[in-house]
Amino acid sequence: MAAMICIASSGQEITRKKAEILVPRPAMQPVKSLDPLNPDVMAMDTLDTSSPARKIILYSDNTWRYWIDGDVASADTTYTKHWNTNPDAYGLSYDNFPLRSYVWLADSTDRYHFPGSITPTKVSSRYGKRRGRYHRGTDMPMPKGSEVYATFDGKVRVAKYSSGYGNLVVIRHTNGLETFYGHLSQINVKQDQWVEAGQVIGLCGATGRASGSHLHYEVRYLGYAIDPEWMLDMDSQELRQSVLVIRKSMLYPESSYSPESDDEEEAIAEADEADRLEQERLEAERKAARYVTIRSGDTLSTIAKREGTTVSALCKLNNITTKTILRVGRTLRVK
Ligand SMILES: [Zn+2]
Repeated sequence: MAAMICIASSGQEITRKKAEILVPRPAMQPVKSLDPLNPDVMAMDTLDTSSPARKIILYSDNTWRYWIDGDVASADTTYTKHWNTNPDAYGLSYDNFPLRSYVWLADSTDRYHFPGSITPTKVSSRYGKRRGRYHRGTDMPMPKGSEVYATFDGKVRVAKYSSGYGNLVVIRHTNGLETFYGHLSQINVKQDQWVEAGQVIGLCGATGRASGSHLHYEVRYLGYAIDPEWMLDMDSQELRQSVLVIRKSMLYPESSYSPESDDEEEAIAEADEADRLEQERLEAERKAARYVTIRSGDTLSTIAKREGTTVSALCKLNNITTKTILRVGRTLRVK
């Protein structure tokens, strides 16, 4: 930086030397090596903000952004309390779950990146309860090896194989949320590592109890899984809101369990597959359906003969019996 004159807030001209006293020297060190997201643009300077963990990086192309110093941010109780490698690190009883919580998702300093790398995002299995089973995440089918991204800045709490989840990464974020990334074919991060939103934390796969390559994505608060689609719009891949309101009524008491303890992930996948096949069957049946209009003199047996079917098949299709009176002009389903 060339010698320059700065204007102090008092309006007085001061020399650069004096300006450097006002802006602490350590804050002026380039941090290019700490910025994996912009490899092509050179970081020129860092500036302090009122928060010790947040810095501002100035780039050679005249852009800037906030940067969180993971070492400083990690000292917060968010990352020191309930910090272990269980999928649910909190062990909070449902009775003690707060009735309502507000979670900042993104402001100018908290960045965000969609977890999946396929556009548009398909969802093969949604969050929720069905057939007595609970699916605590959203399944997004992606080819094996597709990149999986950290949703927000945060610290890796779990990076290991976990029976139900397969290769699992759990990241705790500064906003208190945790995101789970299951069935990974490869884990790219280590436990206790600070990661940034958009950083590749692993590759999609089908490890653990998974029927095909997909990302099992969970969003948890205090150990309880909420529907990721309250937070993410799967079509636009954008955040639905900047503040997430979590009400206790949105959760199940069972939402803190993890697939590790049972076969639920697999059972849910099977239930979803059965539902899908049933939907396909009904759709095919609907497409193949054929109707005739009852004419004068028709009986079930004459219609059955004419249409190449049987009386019992006609009864079943139309939910009638052989004693039902056929009215002329009405339609009868024959296929
Ligand atoms: Zn799943």
